[in-house]
This record gives sequence, C-alpha cells and structure tokens, in this order.
Amino acid sequence: MKRITLLGSTGSIGKNSLDVISRFPDQFKAQYLSANDNVDLLAEQAKRFKPRGVAIANENLEPQLREKLRGESIEILAGKDALCEIARRSDTDFVIGGMVGFSGLKPTIEALKAGKDVGLANKETLVVAGEIVTNLSKEFGGKLLPIDSEHSAIFQCLVGEKTERIGKIILTASGGPFRTLPKEKFSEITVERALNHPNWKMGKKITIDSATLMNKGLEVIEAKWLFGVAIEQIEVVVHPQSIVHSMVEFCDGSIKAQLGTPDMKIPIQYALTYPDRFEADYPRIDWKTLSRLDFETPDTDRFRCLALAFESIKAGGSYPCVLNAANEVAVELFLNGKISFVKIPELIEQALEEHTFSGELTIESLIEHDAETRQSVYEKVALAVSN
Ligand code: MN
Repeated sequence: MKRITLLGSTGSIGKNSLDVISRFPDQFKAQYLSANDNVDLLAEQAKRFKPRGVAIANENLEPQLREKLRGESIEILAGKDALCEIARRSDTDFVIGGMVGFSGLKPTIEALKAGKDVGLANKETLVVAGEIVTNLSKEFGGKLLPIDSEHSAIFQCLVGEKTERIGKIILTASGGPFRTLPKEKFSEITVERALNHPNWKMGKKITIDSATLMNKGLEVIEAKWLFGVAIEQIEVVVHPQSIVHSMVEFCDGSIKAQLGTPDMKIPIQYALTYPDRFEADYPRIDWKTLSRLDFETPDTDRFRCLALAFESIKAGGSYPCVLNAANEVAVELFLNGKISFVKIPELIEQALEEHTFSGELTIESLIEHDAETRQSVYEKVALAVSN
C-alpha cells in the first residue's frame, strides 16, 4: 500500500490524482490532502477519502475547515508550514506535487530531504531550483517521477536506456489556442480566448502559459534537469493534436515516442505505478479516425516567451528564477484584466534585463530573487496604470 500526500488536491492535478487513487483502493491510500484556500472542496474530498490529515495553506480558513470536518477523525493542519509537514511525515510514502508555481518549492524540498519519492507536476519547482532539487533526490534517495505529460513520455522512452546515449529530446507542444493567429491580432486576445485550450483541460495559470508558449519554455528547463541533458539537446516541435506526448532520439538515430490520448490521469498513474503499469480503462486512441499527426516549427517571434526561457536557462544562475517569478505575476495580472496578453513577454524580458544576477543559488537566495522580481513587476504595472 502506497500512502500518498497530495499537495494541491483541489486543483486539476489533485482532482485527477484522486480519481487515479480511487481506482486502486488496495494499492493507494490518500494519506494527506492539502489545498490553498478551497475549503469546500477540500472538506468534501476529506469526507470521501478519509485521509489521516488535511492541510489548508491559508490559515485564516482553518476555523471553517474545522467546522466542516467536525465529527471526523481527521487531523487538521493550517499555514504554509503545514504543507512541508505533511510532505515529510514518516507515515507517508509518496508525495504528489500538484501545486501551482513557486509555492510548491519548499514542500517538494522537504519531501526529498525526507527521502520520499515525489511525483512532480509542479514544473516551476524544477525551473527555479532544478540543480538543488535533483541533487536532493540523489543525496536522500527519493525518486523524482515526472507527472507533466511530456516528461512522463520522455521518462517512458528512457526506460532501459542510458542517459549518455540520448542524442536529443524532442518536446512536443500543442501550440495553444493562438498557434495560427497572426501577430497583428495578438493585441486583441482576451482572457476568455486565452483560457480556451484546444486539447487539455487544466488550471488557469498553466492554460495561459500554454497560450504564450511559456509552458513549453518552462518544460524545456524542467527536461534539462530531470534528464540531465544539455540545453542544446532539447528541441521543441509543435504538434497540434497532442497525441505524441514527446520523443527521444538516440545516438544511433533511432527515435522512441510515447503516444496516448491527452489525459493527465495516464502520466499520474504511471508515476504512481512505476516501474510497473496497472490496467485502466482510460480512453484509447482510435486509429481508424485518427487521420493525421502534424508537426511544425514553433514561432518564437510570435511566442517570445519560449525564446526567453531558452535564453534564461543558457544564462543560468538566477535567470530562470526571475523568468518564473515575472511570468507568475504577469499571468496573474493578465487574468485580472490589468495588462494585455502582449504585455506578458515584455514584463518578463524587462525583469530579466533589470535584475541583479547571481550565480550561486541557495533556497534562501532564490526566495529573495523571487520576492524582488514579483515586487518589481507589480510596481512597474502600478506605475504604468497611474501614469
Ligand atoms: Mn506539459
């Protein structure tokens, strides 16, 4: 029985993870659940899955959660540290990182320091602190298992292979809702249109990242750290059908790909069952109706965020952390109607240019870079509004 801590249980990854867990009650147990502020859904999930404990990151909501779970024998924890606590406890075996953004970093680090296996959907953690996180995995022996669909694909292609035999990693991208939209129309993009992803149903932040192609940029950095390859060995290919989830080309020119319907439950389940596979009835590809698979080169002129991500990881040090922080703020401001879609890459580029570079990274210095960048982007937008 694998006892699971689910960080971010009320989000898209969390809900899909609980679906997977519920299919295998003899193998998986939801031991701890956590949410940021969705008390209603967290309480509902707790009543259904009967975990050992639940954690709410927003501590103001603790009384509400207690009220909703009165009479249940479920431990209630609250505050940001509570997420770290449920990630490292000795009565849990596997941590699923389904939180959004930089907030997932600390609990992931705590889980790895406690030697837990981590199924990581929270790509921002690897973008910001890839070297630290992968080193912790090696040092304490907890495995890092990708839940991001592309990285799960690459991971599956690499079963039985040696890292030094990788020629290149071919990361596929759907291209998002604006794949064919001409550049001059980008200024007309609304939040509603940006949230309408053609293939995947996901949370808001990642859906906007998919529309700007920043998601693919973050995934390039994620792949570099997860698979220990040079950035020059990673190529992005636009594949609008999202059937080929990614590929690996080996030193002899042979290519392996992993395919499947676009459903996050498949990579989540693989992370939980690896190195085995469990039988499941997720939708299958119908080869009679699948008429074609297309591949195109991404346009980094229209999708500047992808180029910025490549530049950031090449420059290294604090650049990826600043890229991520500026992007998180820019996406939030776009979703709140404060800035236009085209402003997102502009703000990120400015933040990268203006920040004070540092090559030596610790968790503390990353937290500082993150906070400084957030503040500078907020200030810049506030200033532009007041002018
Ligand atoms: Mn992905």
